[in-house]
Order: sequence, then C-alpha cells, then structure tokens
Amino acid sequence: MLNSTDVFVIGGGPAGLAAAIAARQQGFRVVVADGAQVPIDKPCGEGLMPDGVAALEKLGISVDAESSYAFRGIRFLSAGLAVDAPFPHGASGMGVRRTVLHRLIADRAASLGIDFLWQTPVTGISADGVQLGSRKVSARWIIGADGGSSRVRRWARLDAFHKRDCRYAFRQHYRVAPWTDRMELHWGRHGEIYVTPVSKDQVCVALISRDPKLRLTEALQRFPELQSRLEGAEVSSAEKGALTATCKLKHVSRGNVALIGDASGTVDAITGEGLCLAFSQAMVLADCLRTGDLARYEHEHRRLALRPLLMARLMLLLDERPRLQRRTLQAFQKRPKVFQRLLELHVGVLSPLHLALDGLTLGWGLLTA
Ligand SMILES: Cc1cc2nc3c(=O)[nH]c(=O)nc-3n(C[C@H](O)[C@H](O)[C@H](O)COP(=O)(O)OP(=O)(O)OC[C@H]3O[C@@H](n4cnc5c(N)ncnc54)[C@H](O)[C@@H]3O)c2cc1C
Repeated sequence: MLNSTDVFVIGGGPAGLAAAIAARQQGFRVVVADGAQVPIDKPCGEGLMPDGVAALEKLGISVDAESSYAFRGIRFLSAGLAVDAPFPHGASGMGVRRTVLHRLIADRAASLGIDFLWQTPVTGISADGVQLGSRKVSARWIIGADGGSSRVRRWARLDAFHKRDCRYAFRQHYRVAPWTDRMELHWGRHGEIYVTPVSKDQVCVALISRDPKLRLTEALQRFPELQSRLEGAEVSSAEKGALTATCKLKHVSRGNVALIGDASGTVDAITGEGLCLAFSQAMVLADCLRTGDLARYEHEHRRLALRPLLMARLMLLLDERPRLQRRTLQAFQKRPKVFQRLLELHVGVLSPLHLALDGLTLGWGLLTA
C-alpha cells in the first residue's frame, strides 16, 4: 500500500490531472485522489479556446475529430443582431464533452505512471502529508485541485479573497448537427446562453443568469432564434446546475501547499477560460516545484489570471443590459475590426494596450450608433 510520494494532488478534475501530468513530466512521483470516479462530469460550456487547445497539446493530450468539434470563431447575438469574427491566424477552438475530455486526460496521466485513488475523498492535510480517513500518505508537496468550494483552501488558510460575484449556470446537450462553426453567445435581458458544438451531431447549451430559479427551457423562450434551432432536437443529457463566480484569492500557496484550477480562484464561465487557465497554471506550477519556488508560482498565477479577469470584466459590462447589448453589437457591426481585436485579446494574441486604443474607437462607435 502506497504511503509516501513527492506530490499529492487532491482532486482529479481537469486541473488536478493537468497538475499531476506536468509534475510527472518533471520527474516527480505523483498520487491523485478524488472522491468521484472517472469519467467525472461537471456543468461546463465545454469549449476550449485555441490557447486552451495548445495548452492541452503541451500536456501530451490530443482529441480526435470524431469525439470533438473544431469551432473557428465567436459570434455574439442579441435581439436580431449578430456579429462574428474568426480566431486569428486560422486557429480553431474545440468543443468536447466533459466526460470525453476527462477520460482522455486521465488516460494520459495513467500512461505516465501516476497513481490514482478514485472514490477516495481526502479528509485533511498536515505539514507532511494528507489524510484519507484513518490512513495517511506523506508528501513533499500538496496540490489543492478540489474545485470552487475547495476545502484544501480552508485547511491551508488560503481562503481570503478579493471579491466574489456569483451567478447561476445550467447546461444541457441537444442532439442536433451544429449549424455553425462558431461558438455562439446569445445576450439577453435576463442572462446569457452560449452554445458550443461538441460533436458532429451534438451541441452543449449553457445558461448563465443571476436568477437561481431560471431554467433552460424557460430561458430559451426569451431567445426565439436559438429556440427555433433547437426545436424538435432530442435532449441528450440531464440539465446540470452550478455556481459560477469571479473570485480572486489573495494567495494561492502556503508552505508546501499550492492551489490550482477553480480552487485557486475562478473567472466567470462566460469567458470560457477556466480550463485553459488550469492547464497553463499546471505547467508553471510543475516548473516551480522543480525549483522549489512557490513564490514564483504566486507571481505567475497572478500574471496568468490577468487576461481572463479583464475579459470577464469587459463581458460582464453587457450582462442584463439589453440597450447596451444592442448598441454594442451595432457598434461592432459598424466596426468589425474592433470585435476581431477583442477576440485577439481573448485568445492572447493582442495586448490590453492595443485594445485600449480600440476601446476608444468602440466608445466613439457606441456614442454614434
Ligand atoms: C456553467 C459553466 C460553464 C463553463 N464553461 C467553460 C468553458 O466553456 N470552457 C472552459 O474552459 N471553462 C468553462 N468553465 C469553467 C471550468 O468548468 C472550470 O474552470 C473547471 O472545471 C475547473 O476544473 P477543476 O479541476 O479546477 O475543478 P473541478 O472540475 O470542480 O474538479 C474538482 C475535483 O475535486 C474533487 N474533490 C473535491 N473535494 C475533494 C476531496 N476532499 N478529496 C478528493 N477529491 C475532491 C471533485 O470530486 C472534483 O472531481 C465553466 C464553468 C461553469 C460552471
């Protein structure tokens, strides 16, 4: 029975598995424990931006075309208006069912010799290891990857945060051929719905709103264009709900404990950035473990979060503001280049400074739309 390791990862979701793979690639012995069993499902928009796809590839994971769907840009829609842009340099994002992605990452981790303890909740941590009920496993490093309501965060006294702005999300799948190669974001008076094609005959539909009682079926009535696309399509998964929030922690490490993924802070789901962020954090964290320097992880973690946090702030300006949504889309229609640049910023090709200049153009556009 295994009783010691170099790195113990608490939580085997995408962030924990990515952290485990990256640490193993640095030569560490790694154990992952999760209370659930592979493949783990979780409410998610199931879209990876091009930089997320690239980060996944760096971890040695490729998803075949049969089990995913390449989307080539983003479309915003609101009250009959639409604006659309392709990803820069012909890049593609990827829609993939959460369960498919989870199994692929778990298989990659297993192939590297990482030890798994599925259906094994961690019950506590100490300076030199983790507690699994009455059993203890000693570990040099402990990684908390136990999601948005992280207990590791509390155990390590890392739960001080700057702000938390919660919204309610529900997702469901529909069996229908994707009608576009764009990820669509439908803006409305009472929240947003985004649609990700996840295979050649299935789309993932995610609703995000501030109303905990609003469900997809009722919300769709307020988005007639989307409703007509889904008319008659078989519902192919159960509706699953989750909280989504923008939450920035003051610190993400203490002693030999480091947090990653949603346990280390979250960006609103509307950005579609959670997975990409987790994969990028994983690679940085493994390198910091190699040099024994978690102070650098703190710094790099903050740097990685900057762009998604900025995107969340920009996108949430439109949340539940139908007049502003209409004016913004009209302005984007007049100046499609600005929308294109926003997308370039989103996927990390453009710096916020360039966008500030475009922001002035858009501001002018809004005044004159
Ligand atoms: C509605 C919605 C839509 C989203 N859409 C997108 C999107 O389109 N693209 C994108 O990139 N991101 C999206 N996100 C964000 C993305 O889903 C998350 O960032 C991602 O799931 C975080 O992964 P994680 O591994 O940190 O956490 P989780 O996936 O929550 O995994 C945490 C794991 O820890 C385990 N665990 C918890 N406690 C313990 C314990 N004590 N012991 C052992 N195991 C434990 C749990 O069982 C779980 O498996 C969305 C989020 C929401 C809510």
